[in-house]
Amino acid sequence: MALLCGLAFARDPVFTDWAAQRRAPSEHPERAAGWDFSATLYERLARVVEHETASAVLVGRSVEKRPIWGFVVQDPGVEATRELLIIAQLHSLEWIGAEVAVAYLEGLAPDPPPGVRVTVIPIVNPDGRWRSEQDLLAEDVRSYRRSNANGVDLNRDWTVHRESDVIWSKLPRTKRHYTTSPAPLSQPETQAVDALAQSAPPDAFVSLHAFGGYVETPWGGVYEPPPDDARLKAMAYEMAEAMPHRPYRVIQINHFVRTFRALGCEVDHFHAVYEADAFLIELTRSGLTLNPRTWRDYFRWYNPVDKTEHVENGVAALDTLTRRLSAEARGLIEPL
Ligand SMILES: [Zn+2]
Repeated sequence: MALLCGLAFARDPVFTDWAAQRRAPSEHPERAAGWDFSATLYERLARVVEHETASAVLVGRSVEKRPIWGFVVQDPGVEATRELLIIAQLHSLEWIGAEVAVAYLEGLAPDPPPGVRVTVIPIVNPDGRWRSEQDLLAEDVRSYRRSNANGVDLNRDWTVHRESDVIWSKLPRTKRHYTTSPAPLSQPETQAVDALAQSAPPDAFVSLHAFGGYVETPWGGVYEPPPDDARLKAMAYEMAEAMPHRPYRVIQINHFVRTFRALGCEVDHFHAVYEADAFLIELTRSGLTLNPRTWRDYFRWYNPVDKTEHVENGVAALDTLTRRLSAEARGLIEPL
């Protein structure tokens, strides 16, 4: 924990006491379908930190002062020379990211691969998550939620590639598609994640989103690939090919449409600022069927009724990256 001591991190009992005070709704159709409300996710995480390999850290607080928890896992008997940072749920409705993060931690903590320290932040945007939970409890599926409590998109609040080179970004009718946050790292949630990264710079970084079924590589803010594109793509293919169900496709973030730019996104930030091998995984292929009751069931856009195969795909991708870093740390394989 040496590198993490610079920040005022809480110790495990603080987290477990806090988690024990959360209350999940006793009955809810989504819960019955296997979608855990955050209280249940935190209950599961309290069991994760019972392992001596795992601990909870208070990374920071949201706009509305909700705690942002991180979970650090490493083999305590071996010095870690690789850092892996995984963050999830920057966007309020993308519960699948938090699900994958927690399932991954549950699998990792009993037997973490040696030589790599993993930090996972399952819910970066707890205020947005809270609002989407309130919507579901009120049976309101039509409220579209994405940003934090200040209305800022945390996926557009980072420091790199904030200005677009695309002509459409300058034109009055189309420039709204090329927006960023008011300033780099303008929000407490992104500041907290970046402060953590400064204290323990990651060698590899993954941000979990939905939907699309993609493992995405930098850049998001410019069309040209980075100089190490081939290596990043090879790592992305390694993650995709490990998926037990129909594997996700590998693509550079902004290559869906030639004029699309994800300005100021976290993957560009972590790749440019920390030189981390950085990825964004778009989990699920949406949960909307061809014939939905309503197209405006926004929860279902991101989170299918049956999450199983996407949880397994996501966990397999993260496990593969973790094992690669561990093997590199022990000199068993060369970095790509
Ligand atoms: Zn997202």
